[in-house]
Amino acid sequence: MGKLDGKVAIISGAARGQGEAEARAFVAEGARVVLGDVLDAEGERVAASLGDAATYVHLDVTQPADWERAVKTAGSEYGKLDVLINNAGILRLGFIESQPLEEYLAVVNVNQVGCFLGMQAAIPALKANGGGSIVNTSSTSGFIGVAGLAAYTASKFAVRGMTKVAAIELGHHNIRVNSVHPGGIDTAMVAQDEFEGVDSDAIYGAQPIPRVGRPEEVAKLMVFLASDDTPTAPAPSSCATAGSWRARRSPDSTTTDDGTPRRQRPVEPSTSCRRIPKVSAGSSHIEPTA
Ligand code: NAD
Repeated sequence: MGKLDGKVAIISGAARGQGEAEARAFVAEGARVVLGDVLDAEGERVAASLGDAATYVHLDVTQPADWERAVKTAGSEYGKLDVLINNAGILRLGFIESQPLEEYLAVVNVNQVGCFLGMQAAIPALKANGGGSIVNTSSTSGFIGVAGLAAYTASKFAVRGMTKVAAIELGHHNIRVNSVHPGGIDTAMVAQDEFEGVDSDAIYGAQPIPRVGRPEEVAKLMVFLASDDTPTAPAPSSCATAGSWRARRSPDSTTTDDGTPRRQRPVEPSTSCRRIPKVSAGSSHIEPTA
């Protein structure tokens, strides 16, 4: 018996990376999945490899009409909607002083507005279903600041905040809302040109589990949060970190365990974005809703 037997899910950004891994894990656990992405050829290929349990739709998460079509497809193909995974995202490196406004807005539009629009489109179907689960993909950047990632970090903090609001608004409709906060995961997102020359072994080697995370590991967490194993009442806004960042008491903490102020290490802006600035730590984190 699969953990998601009988469930119907929409996964955005499912043509590759974590979204693809999530689609594969969901189908393996008995779910039927609508995969959405802007990479149509890749998305069609992934869906085809999953057989009748998967359908691909073109879904630009910044477009309300595309979301409407994805939700309709879940209904017409599989009869209902139980789960929304807001996974689509983009990352653009750039320092505040020099990042073009269009680039900043593009990141916010996909990561933050896309997440909002996905929830807005899915809520009526989830209510009609008598409940369900929404999982929003944030990041360790939803807890901490990293130089060169203002747009990305702002958008991922917003996803975390929006998730808390949604959990409060939707709990009494039997809809659970959670955010997931992966550390570094080995996907195309971190294989962009801007990352050329970055010593990823040095970054990940500094973590207690000294390696980059795999998309399949995040997918397991998504399966859990989509499944009936997740507590149903009261609806929590859980923030779980997947990946391999160094654990510490609290990413927002400014003091050590004995109360000593933490020494703030200045991060020197690089003249180019080819060097990832110091990566701060995130920790596994379960937060109450409020
Ligand atoms: P990825 O680049 O492999 O996948 C992102 C997917 O989103 C791609 O298929 C892309 O085509 C799609 N996408 C981009 N813009 C879109 C749009 N407008 N509409 C629909 N789909 C769109 O990267 P990934 O690592 O699989 O990223 C998945 C999620 O995980 C993202 O939200 C990302 O921010 C988050 N995340 C990634 C990491 C990491 O280290 N890779 C860490 C933390 C969080």
